[in-house]
Amino acid sequence: MAEPLFRRLTLLGIGLIGSSIARIAAERGDLAAEVVANARTQATLDRVMELGIADRVELDPVRAVEGADCVILCAPVGAYAVLAEAIAPHLAPGCILSDVGSTKQSVIRDVGPLVPEGVHFVPAHPLAGTEYSGPDAGFVTLFEGRYTLIVPPPGTDEEAIERVAALWRRCGSMVERMEPAHHDRVLAIVSHLPHLLAFTICGTADDLADESRSEVLRFAASGFRDFTRIAASDPVMWRDVFLNHREALREMLARFLEDAQAMARAVRWGDAGYIEDKVERGRKIRRSLIELKQA
Ligand code: NAP
Repeated sequence: MAEPLFRRLTLLGIGLIGSSIARIAAERGDLAAEVVANARTQATLDRVMELGIADRVELDPVRAVEGADCVILCAPVGAYAVLAEAIAPHLAPGCILSDVGSTKQSVIRDVGPLVPEGVHFVPAHPLAGTEYSGPDAGFVTLFEGRYTLIVPPPGTDEEAIERVAALWRRCGSMVERMEPAHHDRVLAIVSHLPHLLAFTICGTADDLADESRSEVLRFAASGFRDFTRIAASDPVMWRDVFLNHREALREMLARFLEDAQAMARAVRWGDAGYIEDKVERGRKIRRSLIELKQA
């Protein structure tokens, strides 16, 4: 077994993502010699101890980060600023502070200025998830074959970036670097807009008159069913993603609405060629995803 990358790894938040990292650390033994978990509630920490996926739990984030050489924020992004403010003065010199948040410009804006001299701030985002949350939702293969994007602000220490990349590679991820603004635009289209559409379509179905609503549920064809899976995601996490990602999300939504208008027009005028072309493009994208093993 390789040497552990870190002496003490602290996970601030131990839900789907944090507990998957903890499970991998427990199984492999080469991420960190010790894993400390922190959450908002004692109930979650009790569950973490029952599951046996951390060496130690701490309800107080300050105590959780003491002596850690790597700290990863794994809470909803809206909680980062308060957490970072609390822990910043207690981070050991040379410590790496990373995160897994779904938005990156907001994280760099909120957390970056709080990071003390001598601490390396290396934001990251694993592109892996499910609609489940909490410490029971994690699993060791969550990141396998999935990309993790490392999104360091300019001037970040290269060695620290490499250590975070090594951690994600040991978690099974393929690692790439990306600019923060580019990350947010890409994520708006591949993840955040689809979630926005799923939440909206489920709301529309739910607003239907009682009779039609029960039929939606009884006869849900795969199209609607697939939307409901995405729409089952955690409300706090997604509230925070939307609120911390306004610009890129609004830009992609405006583009989408224009395209949806064009499709509505094609339907109205019976433009079969336009409709067929759009469906064909959808099929092509799906085929490419399958070929890239990302389906
Ligand atoms: P989750 O399963 O809902 O877990 C969230 C964890 O954060 C819980 O342990 C929770 O503690 C803790 N927490 C919540 N509010 C907190 C606060 N104010 N202060 C401290 N801890 C707090 O969430 P998740 O799905 O793992 O997501 C975590 C992060 O990963 C988010 O930033 C999200 O954007 C990012 N992400 C998610 C996905 C996905 O598909 N889910 C994918 C990639 C990245 P309690 O249990 O005690 O409330």
